[in-house]
This record gives sequence, C-alpha cells and structure tokens, in this order.
Amino acid sequence: MNARKRILWHVAPRAPWMTQGRMGMHRDLERILIPAAAIEARVRDLGQTIAAELEREIGGDGTHADHGELVIVPILTGSVMFVADLVRRLPLKLRLEMVGVSSYPGKSMESKGVSIRHELPGTLAGKHVLVIDDILDSGHTLDVVTRLIREQRPASLRTCVLLRKPGKSSLPVAPDYVGFDIPDEFVVGYGLDYDGFYRNLPEIATLRPEAR
Ligand code: 5GP
Ligand code: MG
Repeated sequence: MNARKRILWHVAPRAPWMTQGRMGMHRDLERILIPAAAIEARVRDLGQTIAAELEREIGGDGTHADHGELVIVPILTGSVMFVADLVRRLPLKLRLEMVGVSSYPGKSMESKGVSIRHELPGTLAGKHVLVIDDILDSGHTLDVVTRLIREQRPASLRTCVLLRKPGKSSLPVAPDYVGFDIPDEFVVGYGLDYDGFYRNLPEIATLRPEAR
C-alpha cells in the first residue's frame, strides 16, 4: 500500500460519536444542515474569491501606504471558527481586530437588540476593512457594526457572513460575501451557539425541540 492510500485508510473511519452512539452534544441535534466537508469546500472558495478581489485593490503585501492596510474585523464569538479557517485561505498581509457584539443574551432565541461588548478598534481610518460575522438574520448586528466603522472613514469596507437567512432582513444590509443561504431555522455549530454550547460542533445543525 503506498503512503497516500495508508493516509486515506487512517482518516476514513467515522468520527467516534457516529459509531459509539449519540454522545454528549450530539444527542441534542435534530439534523445536520451543512456537513463539515461542505463548509470546508465553501470556505476555500470564498477565500479564493476574497483574496483575488482584495489583492487587486490593495496589493498582495498590504504595506503600500497609498493603498492602505487590510484589517479583518471578526464579530465575536460566533465567527471564530469561520474566521480562523477563512484567514488561513487569504495569503495577504492583514491584521485581526475583534469586536464583541451580543444579540441573543442568555437562552433566548429572540433578538433583544444589539449591544457592543468589546469596543471596536479606533484605528480603521484609511484602512481596507473586511467585517466577518457568522450569520445574517435581522441584519441589526451587521448594520450597527458597519455604521460604527464607517464613522472612522476606512478606505473601503466589505462584509462577509458564513450564513444568511434570506428574506429575514428588513435593513438595507447586503453582505459582499455569503457562504450559504439557509432556511429560517435556528442553527448551531461551527462557532454558532445556543446558550453558549455547541460552538465546537464541526457541522451546522438544528437542535431537537427538547434541547431548546
Ligand atoms: P441579526 O443581528 O442579523 O439578527 O443576527 C445576527 C446574530 O444573531 C448572529 O451574529 C448570531 O449571533 C445570532 N443569530 C442569528 N440567527 C442565529 C441562528 O440561527 N443561530 C445562532 N446560534 N445564532 C443566530
Ligand atoms: Mg453573533
């Protein structure tokens, strides 16, 4: 058996939770909407698209004063997995400046408005900014964050979300990059939580009614 086949043999077995019963958090899942492999493939595509566009605008080394620097602004905490995977697909010189936003405090699934928990960096003037969030639902989160950033007069401002629930937003927010359009259901996994749990799930899934 050559080396490549041996490697495939080792990764082929299913994850332990699939073979050992529905352990831990997997007990609470209703169905998988987006498998891990599909997320990975889409993130790779998005990375290529975004890198090509930004490189055209900014230049690959991002250091030219006249072109401005690239700053990625992830909205915490839901976007952490997505950002970690996406930025590693961007071969550009960039900085990460997190912003913390709370939109579903506690266990509630109803949006209670948006509050900024972790102040925005005050240094975005003249920079090329890419804001990244996990999901666009009502659009309030992205609306508030992009307004605050625009006040700082960046050289450019783009937005990227992993997931979008089409038709939900009453606000004029149209992300420049969208990973997947999903039905209007509450989802968890790959950074998205319910009451702080399930962020470490590799897939995007819905929860069983008993778990909510
Ligand atoms: P929006 O402000 O657009 O209504 O909602 C965006 C934020 O709400 C997201 O950053 C996310 O934290 C939360 N959110 C919206 N829909 C969902 C969902 O289906 N699942 C989870 N876990 N969070 C959601
Ligand atoms: Mg969020």
